[in-house]
Amino acid sequence: MTTTVITNIGSLVTNDPDLGDGPLGLVADAALVLDGDRIAWAGPAAGAPAADTAVDAGGRAVVPGFVDSHSHLVFAGDRTAEFNARMSGRAYEAGGIRTTVAATRAATDAELEANLVRHLREALRQGTTTFETKSGYGLTVEDEARALRIAAAHTDEVTYLGAHIVSPDLADDPAAYVDLVTGPMLDACAPHARWIDVFCEKGAFDGDQARAILTAGKARGLHPRVHANQLSYGPGVRLAVELDAASADHCTHLTDADVDALASGNTVATLLPGAEFSTRAAWPDARRLLDAGVTVALSTDCNPGSSYTSSVPFCIALAVRDMGMTPDEALWSATAGGAAALRRTDIGRLAPGARADLALLDAPSHVHLAYRPGVPLVTEVWRAGTRAA
Ligand SMILES: [Zn+2]
Repeated sequence: MTTTVITNIGSLVTNDPDLGDGPLGLVADAALVLDGDRIAWAGPAAGAPAADTAVDAGGRAVVPGFVDSHSHLVFAGDRTAEFNARMSGRAYEAGGIRTTVAATRAATDAELEANLVRHLREALRQGTTTFETKSGYGLTVEDEARALRIAAAHTDEVTYLGAHIVSPDLADDPAAYVDLVTGPMLDACAPHARWIDVFCEKGAFDGDQARAILTAGKARGLHPRVHANQLSYGPGVRLAVELDAASADHCTHLTDADVDALASGNTVATLLPGAEFSTRAAWPDARRLLDAGVTVALSTDCNPGSSYTSSVPFCIALAVRDMGMTPDEALWSATAGGAAALRRTDIGRLAPGARADLALLDAPSHVHLAYRPGVPLVTEVWRAGTRAA
């Protein structure tokens, strides 16, 4: 195993309060030592142990690689026309997903995988070293299973979302579609997934349907996560907490009871400001959640319909500008928060034993991610101890 020391780090975010200042465990004039795919040491450069090779960070900031815990990247086609129409005054409706379903069903496996890989490279260049991704644009047994197979070749964080919308093939019989999602489709999909998800929303699946779907998934060893309370108030968030879902995602329309439930359970609130940006919707109130003691994650929701961005730095800038988060909170939520939303402790931090996933910024500190929105500050990315971008 080769050890590498990265020295002359202007500002290092460890996300370990024992290693530095505040919740981010910030260390100025820092160094990191990598041993194979793991972090072996982190702290002030003056105290760094010797290593086989050295890399000079040139005073740049280093942050943990971003953990994007919510994306929809197995798809074909695009929805430029829908976006253009919406930005010209038409309201967003969940049914727009049908356009992508038709294109995805018509695509070959190779086309779907090439499109996935293209988006993963795009995300990696912007500092994302772990991503979760979902099915949900197939909505048949065969098309959902192949989406998960393709995703599983590229990440461990694969989510079965047969319950994205009721399949157009069974639009007149939603109960039959729920039977399919909890029966033959689950049988075909469970071997390829870690998680099960449902879009609990008016026009998609109601609370009873969502409960049946998530419960069936749990019985097959899949752990729940929920698209909850995005477009309207509803039962999704409380159902997520009740079923010990790892994450309730969107959380845009919350009652006090929803916030209390999140604060009392182990379910992370994952906020996806790219969706509100791309649909001109009201922002989720991150400040309210943080003040209540809720664990908050920030992710892209990258998908061709409602949030076609793969950029976590962009989401950080939105969260700081429009959702009441401080730059420190937004950085934590996009790294350690994403890890919590995936129930992972080996990523999202730069402390001994963690996976050596990190991004170098062409800036003196992580604050610049929000201070300089839209600027490509990520200049170097290491994943599992290897330079990846
Ligand atoms: Zn989503």
